Amino acid sequence: MLDVIQNLVDFTGESEYNGHMDANLIFGQSINYISKKSDPADLIRLVNYGVQSIGIGILFLDRNRKCVYANKHAFSMFHSEENPEVLGNIFFEWMSGLGIAQTAASWCRVYSNGDKERLYRVRFRSIIDSSNILLGYMYTVQNLSDIVENSTGEQYRLTHDELTGLYNREGFNEAARELLKETEESYLLLYSNIKDFKLFNQLFGIDKGNDILMNIGDMMLQHVRVGDIYGRINGDHFAMCIPKARFDEKGFKELVREIAGRVTSKTYSLHMQIGVYEVRDSYMDIPLMCDRAYMACKSIKKDGVCEIAWYSDEMLVNALLEKEVLSSFDFAIFNKQFGIYLQPQVYPDGTVFGAEALARWIHPENGLIEPSVFINVLERADLIYKLDRYIWELAAAQLAAWKGTEMEGLSISINVSPKDLYYLDIKKEFMNLARQYDIDPKYLNIEITETAVTSDVAKCAKLILELQSSGFSVEIDDFGSGYSSLNMLKDINANVLKIDMGFLRRTDNLERAHVILNYTIDMAHELGMGVITEGVETKEQLDFLMGMGCGMFQGFYFDRPMPVESFEDKYRGKIKTIVTEEKDHEI
Ligand code: C2E
Ligand code: MG
Ligand code: MG
Repeated sequence: MLDVIQNLVDFTGESEYNGHMDANLIFGQSINYISKKSDPADLIRLVNYGVQSIGIGILFLDRNRKCVYANKHAFSMFHSEENPEVLGNIFFEWMSGLGIAQTAASWCRVYSNGDKERLYRVRFRSIIDSSNILLGYMYTVQNLSDIVENSTGEQYRLTHDELTGLYNREGFNEAARELLKETEESYLLLYSNIKDFKLFNQLFGIDKGNDILMNIGDMMLQHVRVGDIYGRINGDHFAMCIPKARFDEKGFKELVREIAGRVTSKTYSLHMQIGVYEVRDSYMDIPLMCDRAYMACKSIKKDGVCEIAWYSDEMLVNALLEKEVLSSFDFAIFNKQFGIYLQPQVYPDGTVFGAEALARWIHPENGLIEPSVFINVLERADLIYKLDRYIWELAAAQLAAWKGTEMEGLSISINVSPKDLYYLDIKKEFMNLARQYDIDPKYLNIEITETAVTSDVAKCAKLILELQSSGFSVEIDDFGSGYSSLNMLKDINANVLKIDMGFLRRTDNLERAHVILNYTIDMAHELGMGVITEGVETKEQLDFLMGMGCGMFQGFYFDRPMPVESFEDKYRGKIKTIVTEEKDHEI
């Protein structure tokens, strides 16, 4: 019994727009007092009296969801005779008519009886005792019509979200401002995003989407205390302002996991990303704090059910840089500010058989800009295909320019971003280039990253076959950087594997990595593929890789990427060209 009462007291005390707060406080304190001193019958009389006199409707359900108790207010709000079962039926009929699941946390909807319409706010909670045993369920129903219809109602509408009953953006900003103004405590601002929520709505419908949003509202209710500020800022974005000392990452993740568990689908699994901004200047604009927490949220790359990232100033710098890149990208393409640098691909004796074309932004004011500054930004903004098409064309034009010169016969490898596979008809693009520049496709090597391949093995396997049958050579770039590299090879028949030495640098267990490298090289050869190791920086690495049977290299030990003219000057006369299939066995 005490558990039920405590739940009720906790629950009704949570509302941030609650005229009953004081009554609940007194009510709760009386229970504490009387439960220690009096017999249970007195306690039940007191609780019954309290529940009956409270100004909101209350329904208790047993474990089988049968309504077993309700207060007078609830009967009258739903125009029901004074029988809990009858009231339960009316209540659930109204709920199901709204398409609201019985587990949603809180919602506001119109209830009509005859011509009269009233706005009710309903909150739900499972009642679980201290040993984690489910006792039943409780709904409270608050009539908001009076609030909404009188002068404070206008204010309520402006500051609250209709679906969840939580603060909306304006309400949150205002309330968080007030809270931070008055406190000395250290606070956090949390901002959440549901990954691909649009897709969720498309797959399951708006009602189910709303249900999830209400569940998140519930999660917040479970995590906050009176005085904390929380709300739905827009769409699937929620924000929360809570004391730093009370933020429990583990508890938060568990709650999200619990909500995610309610979405059971093969096509979609719920992932929540939470950005955390630690308030340093409590007078900073709240929307600015939200922006920073959101920045942290957007920085999340991992794909766990609930990922949490903390804001750092570096993120702000990156965001500014990102803005700068995106705002000047079109202008830069139009004005031909992008070019290629070539990095030689060599045999151990230093003779060259090809080069990788790597994009460089030659900025009129900022000088040479490396790909690490712009490739990811353009990928995130779905603009990379524009740059790639441009770079591929430069590479094709270069091959055409080499025709009939000493450089003829060298291949150029170009990079394909994983996003290109969705935005472009890759085969058509390369066929057109070969035709337009009248080049032999065998000199244009297409690098597809291992991550792109693993994202859709069947699609890539088909594309690779098509490209090969049109005469192009396909290389799997950054091989070994993913988790399913070896597994992928049973379905993919590329011409060359490019293994990045970086994977050796990133490991703590060099010996095991060497064994894997050795077997990978052997296996690639047995499967009829060539192997290029990139990122070779030292003579020791070269010797060691040669000992493992690798015969083609790309790395700073030989040369860094360089402008096309430098490449031509340096490697003219040092060319040894062999068709791809034979390359690797030439040594
Ligand atoms: P990637 O395709 O794996 O290219 C090799 C990168 O490794 C190049 O960096 C190269 O400079 C670097 N590298 C080569 N040898 C060594 C070495 O010995 N040590 C170290 N530490 N690094 C070495 P870069 O030019 O900065 O390019 C980085 C990445 O950006 C590329 O990795 C590629 O994923 C991407 N990228 C470059 N150009 C393009 C492009 O035109 N399109 C697309 N989609 N991506 C590009
Ligand atoms: Mg590459
Ligand atoms: Mg690579």
